[in-house]
Amino acid sequence: MQALQQHLQQTFQLQTFRPGQQAVIDALLAGRSALAVFPTGGGKSLCYQLPALMFSGVTLVVSPLIALMKDQVDQLQRLGVAAARLDSSVDAEQLQEIYRGLDDGTIKLLYVAPERLANERFLARLKRLSISMMAVDEAHCVSEWGHNFRPDYLKLAQLASDLNVGRVLALTATATPQVAEQICDSFSIAREDHVQTGFFRPNLALSIRPHDVSERDQALLAALQSRPLESSIVYVTLQKTAEQVAGFLQAQGLPAQAYHAGLKDEERHRVQENFMAGQGDIVVATIAFGMGIDKADIRAIYHYNLPKSLENYMQEIGRAGRDGEPSECVLLAGSDDLTVLENFSYGDTPDSASLAGLIDWLVGQPEQFDLSVHELSGQFDVRPLVINTLLTYLELEGVVRATAPFYTEYKLAFRTSRDDVISQFNDDRADFLQRVFATGKQGRIWLTLKPIDAAAELQVDRLRILKALGYLEQQGMIELRVAGVRQGYRMLQRPQEPQALTARMEEQFRVREQRDIQRLQQVCDWAEGKGCYQQALVSYFGERLPEPCGQCSHCKGEHWPMMARHRRVPDTAVIQAVRQEGHGALATPRQLARFLCGISSPRASRARLGRHPAFASLIDAPFADVLAACEKP
Ligand code: ADP
Repeated sequence: MQALQQHLQQTFQLQTFRPGQQAVIDALLAGRSALAVFPTGGGKSLCYQLPALMFSGVTLVVSPLIALMKDQVDQLQRLGVAAARLDSSVDAEQLQEIYRGLDDGTIKLLYVAPERLANERFLARLKRLSISMMAVDEAHCVSEWGHNFRPDYLKLAQLASDLNVGRVLALTATATPQVAEQICDSFSIAREDHVQTGFFRPNLALSIRPHDVSERDQALLAALQSRPLESSIVYVTLQKTAEQVAGFLQAQGLPAQAYHAGLKDEERHRVQENFMAGQGDIVVATIAFGMGIDKADIRAIYHYNLPKSLENYMQEIGRAGRDGEPSECVLLAGSDDLTVLENFSYGDTPDSASLAGLIDWLVGQPEQFDLSVHELSGQFDVRPLVINTLLTYLELEGVVRATAPFYTEYKLAFRTSRDDVISQFNDDRADFLQRVFATGKQGRIWLTLKPIDAAAELQVDRLRILKALGYLEQQGMIELRVAGVRQGYRMLQRPQEPQALTARMEEQFRVREQRDIQRLQQVCDWAEGKGCYQQALVSYFGERLPEPCGQCSHCKGEHWPMMARHRRVPDTAVIQAVRQEGHGALATPRQLARFLCGISSPRASRARLGRHPAFASLIDAPFADVLAACEKP
């Protein structure tokens, strides 16, 4: 116990535990696995950072959020804790140093992205280590009932047992009772070790005031002007809306900025930093804004568009009032937003022809093969994320297993000159390098090599070439860059009935789509509810609030009806016109329907059709109606 307090106060410089922290840490120290469900900002990280220092082996932290990972590792290092992270930004030299730290036991916490755990070579290294604990951040991704199911998370449970980890700590800010149960089942966590702190935030006043799209700008403006100028976030669905609304507010003289994933990195950093430093800034943002926004005095959150799920809503409003002071959360959107949101779910579902094509391609591969998700994505016109999901489903079915990823292309630049580098080696080696370089293509600065082709041409082992390049880089004779990542796979069980497999996969994607649609409906049902909004919201997360909150718009006696849904009828003239243009990327009815509903696909993006005037022209018509119209000759 004393050691615990000592670490808390001396290492982490904190006085006391926050609610839930000690219960979680006690379970872990007793050798049991645990699930921590605390709201964002509730202090989940300490639950593994502190015990990690008391275990003999290393603690593996799996987190999908690279930006957060970097912040945490930097912070731990400042506190003098030996922590490291493995992500794509780590270079060869740093990697060696991390491996040394792991082997000699000096690194106590290692942060990794889940993708990294698909790498067989890395896993082989991990197997040699003593892993005291695996902390799984965003653990709700394990559950297909959750709002952000990631099939690669399902592999983590298996991995924890393969790696023989001492205990698992699953962490999340949003888990319905059903999701929590699934997390516990996956990682064998006892019900008593599911520690949940309250979702109820007494300082947040929730208001639901739906407005038709045409009136929303004015409603937002009025809401912003009714309060003193304070830090506020306005959430929207589309990047384009973020720009429009920010522009509108600026024209009204308000200090508003847009933030979305389509902005240049510098611009995004600038907006975020200004917001973090300022007091009166308004950010109009897509959900890209939020990770790592830990600002205590955000006074208001406006939902200009509907959130995708109640889990998303909870997370988004959870950014308000972290300092405990009264803050407002206003929903200005209504069910007229549903069509656009639903269309995004449909856009993620691959069609049967693409799925069948992909699976046929896989069935035709040899025992050992490799693929580029980017290439397949273009070939079958399926989004990269969907291909990765499909591959994970196939891994879970035992059809394939991922091996190490590798690069197909190396670009090198000589620090002095090619001749100078060669002259530093004896005859044999000089001759080898000469021949390797000769297989490449020399540009103005970079010599591009393809080790696979070079190995075949020179009849040598590919690894020998890679070793030589690595040596030259290490000696500072060349600068080396890699490109064209390919993921290696091994066929475990070649599908005997590809059609049946395709049908099963199609069903999985369909179920997923239905769940997304259902989650949207739950948001509307909640907003249309007949009781206290806080009570209804926390009860969705399995918590009971004995009394109405007394400060939501329902408790205050305001009643706003949800807007009726807009169901625009697809305009057949537009369909005919685009069809007559004969774009190869819009050849099938589904491709055409996606395009008209504003859902990008790899082929259409490559053909730059996102700028076509008809792109997204039927965005507020239901996808199914547009598809049906496109299927008519
Ligand atoms: P979460 O992961 O749950 O969103 P974090 O672990 O990032 O939350 O913690 C949020 C903030 O709370 C951090 O700034 C952290 O330093 C602080 N914090 C965590 N535990 C305590 C504690 N026991 N006392 C005071 N501050 C704490």
